[in-house]
Amino acid sequence: MNEFEIIRRFFSHTYRDDAVRLGIGDDAAVIAPSPGQELVIAVDTMNKGRHFFADVPPVTLGHKILAVNLSDMAAMGATPRWALLAGSLEDSDADWLAAFCAGFYTLAEKYRIALVGGDTTRGATSFTLTIIGETPAGKAITRGGARVDDDIWVSGQLGDAALALAAIKKQVSLSPENIALLRQRLEIPEPRVALGLGLRDIATAALDISDGLSGDLRHILESSQVGARIELDAIPRSPILNAAFKENKTLALHCLLAGGDDYELCFTAPVSARAHIDAISQSLELPLTRIGQITADKSFHIIDENGRPLHRLPDAFDHFAHTTHA
Ligand code: ADP
Ligand code: MG
Repeated sequence: MNEFEIIRRFFSHTYRDDAVRLGIGDDAAVIAPSPGQELVIAVDTMNKGRHFFADVPPVTLGHKILAVNLSDMAAMGATPRWALLAGSLEDSDADWLAAFCAGFYTLAEKYRIALVGGDTTRGATSFTLTIIGETPAGKAITRGGARVDDDIWVSGQLGDAALALAAIKKQVSLSPENIALLRQRLEIPEPRVALGLGLRDIATAALDISDGLSGDLRHILESSQVGARIELDAIPRSPILNAAFKENKTLALHCLLAGGDDYELCFTAPVSARAHIDAISQSLELPLTRIGQITADKSFHIIDENGRPLHRLPDAFDHFAHTTHA
């Protein structure tokens, strides 16, 4: 297959969207944004050896490159609508591409995302997806709005994706069933798009946890010029991660606080919103947990089970400091 056959066979069928005046096949796409809406735009890249193992099932890769970008839309309270996909491929393996597309288009259909363009080149395997969403004017949830005494919330459970990576690297021993469960959290994350939309008029600040809670929460604190106090015991975790605390506490703590790739949302909201947020949790069947408070004192403390602040908080994931998936 040459470049144009690849595009025609794999990247030309897409969710139909009337706002797309001109989609794949021209020099650029033409989109008519909805009246009264602002565009919310993000991009994320996944490189082989850095973000995924060479032998990862391509169906999960197609899912994940879209999921991580949908997660950014969720964190902004935006409705994701259009995507552009730039792929660098080592060869034109039709079976591999078909599986990649199955993962990609299944998620794209679910969220009604129209693929409107992209680029296809040869090189080390890498995917870059640009996502474009909409919010009503002025309604995007930023990192900068947290206020003193706001509650700090997180969705779902944290640390499983990092624990999966640790298990794959044999840093911790788990049963094959548990490794399979955790791998799903690492490879097939579910973006919290509905939650983000539900939080639009409630959350004062939000972000998605892609690099670990302790590092990511700092971004909210810096942008909002506030501090935080959170309770270690309150941070929601799976029974598998809880059990890992007994075997290797340092590693488990690292997964919980600094493990990336969970794609849960961390957000702040006034105390008066508690009942409303609990109702959202019920209707989405998604656990939402209060883990602490925003403080006027600009420091950041995580309080352990003995009521004492943790001394050294694990670092957030930093691409220029660590290697992964190698
Ligand atoms: P150009 O040379 O003008 O950049 P290309 O030949 O690269 O155009 O691409 C032709 C059309 O196919 C364009 O509309 C482009 O957006 C689209 N396209 C190319 N690669 C992809 C891809 N991986 N996914 C989606 N659309 C793609
Ligand atoms: Mg091009």
